[in-house]
Amino acid sequence: MENSHVLIVGAGPTGLTAAVELARRGIIPVVIEKRKSASHLSRAVGILPRSMKLLGPSGAATAIRTEAITFRRAIFHTQSKQFANLPLDTHKDDNNRLYGMPQNRTEAHLRNAFKALGGKINYGAELLSLFQSDTGISASILGKAFRFDTVIGADGSDSVVREAMHIPFHGYELPEIWSIADVDAWGWKAPSAFQAYMLDKGGVVVVVPLAKNRYRVISNRPYALAALPVPSNITKLHRAANFAISVRQAETYQRGRVFLAGDAAHCHSPVGGRGMNLGIADAADLAERIATGTTDGYHSARHPVGRTTIKQSERARRIITSTHPVTRTLLRNFLRLVQHSPLLQRRFLKKVLDL
Ligand SMILES: Cc1cc2nc3c(=O)[nH]c(=O)nc-3n(C[C@H](O)[C@H](O)[C@H](O)COP(=O)(O)OP(=O)(O)OC[C@H]3O[C@@H](n4cnc5c(N)ncnc54)[C@H](O)[C@@H]3O)c2cc1C
Repeated sequence: MENSHVLIVGAGPTGLTAAVELARRGIIPVVIEKRKSASHLSRAVGILPRSMKLLGPSGAATAIRTEAITFRRAIFHTQSKQFANLPLDTHKDDNNRLYGMPQNRTEAHLRNAFKALGGKINYGAELLSLFQSDTGISASILGKAFRFDTVIGADGSDSVVREAMHIPFHGYELPEIWSIADVDAWGWKAPSAFQAYMLDKGGVVVVVPLAKNRYRVISNRPYALAALPVPSNITKLHRAANFAISVRQAETYQRGRVFLAGDAAHCHSPVGGRGMNLGIADAADLAERIATGTTDGYHSARHPVGRTTIKQSERARRIITSTHPVTRTLLRNFLRLVQHSPLLQRRFLKKVLDL
């Protein structure tokens, strides 16, 4: 393993962003990843303007932009009947678009940027334990002990780093099972639109374009494809899975010289598409602080942003999955109003794009 005073645990989007942003400032960290090779999972899709700005200086944003699709519209339905159709690409500045691509491709561009800066990812290297004392941090990796001055826990929601530092992860589990399916399909109506279908009893199914003729179907019911209320010409099923959702935030993002970022620090439902973007922002902020010796402000800068994002995502999830007829009618009426008001459309876009 190469010699560095900074260890990053986890090569997901958060760990890779921290690696790129440190390397860009002349600090090449040790990056360890317990997987044997890069992940092929497509999890997060939406890449917000703020993330693209943060990934600009390393060149990763340009690479992402050449491959990603642009979300053009958001279309809402009750069952199969459309009730609102809103533009997502009307902002004057081209940079303020919502880009989409499978998470494994975003990670590939971050890996390329890190490699171009002289970095390397150590695959098959799992952090087993971590011990911090006055003289530094000892990490047990591949059965050997290594010493570091600074550790970034970007090791996801089951973070070993968080556990080793005894940092509570407060929150709750959602009772319902959610599901996704990634499919190839042809002839899909409005192929560059995000489409939401409100079902009865608080059910919702969302179709998100991933690439040309490739879509993500996601639902708060098991078996997303079965819940879809419109016909779909599916030619290939890439992946289907049911999953449970935790809504949690670490009590602190910092213990001495050990820091948490991304899902290790916070997790919530996919509503709003904020998870990966929040991790990228944590990582960019932390890397700058490590390089400039201002890490003591990290927790107070990032914890409130995480708390607000979780609150907003939960509020949106409660509204779109509400079983209350009044809430559902109000939501429908509000989106119809937005459709007919340029002023409300600008405000809606600002909220969706987190501008
Ligand atoms: C179905 C689904 C849809 C989603 N959609 C969106 C979306 O549209 N937009 C959005 O912004 N977010 C979305 N998210 C959330 C997003 O995927 C996560 O927020 C994001 O992956 C978090 O990145 P991360 O790098 O913090 O953690 P992870 O991606 O979980 O990466 C952590 C890495 O650490 C490694 N690791 C773990 N333990 C160790 C160890 N002990 N030693 C070494 N390595 C270790 C893991 O193998 C993993 O590679 C979605 C999530 C899901 C499940």
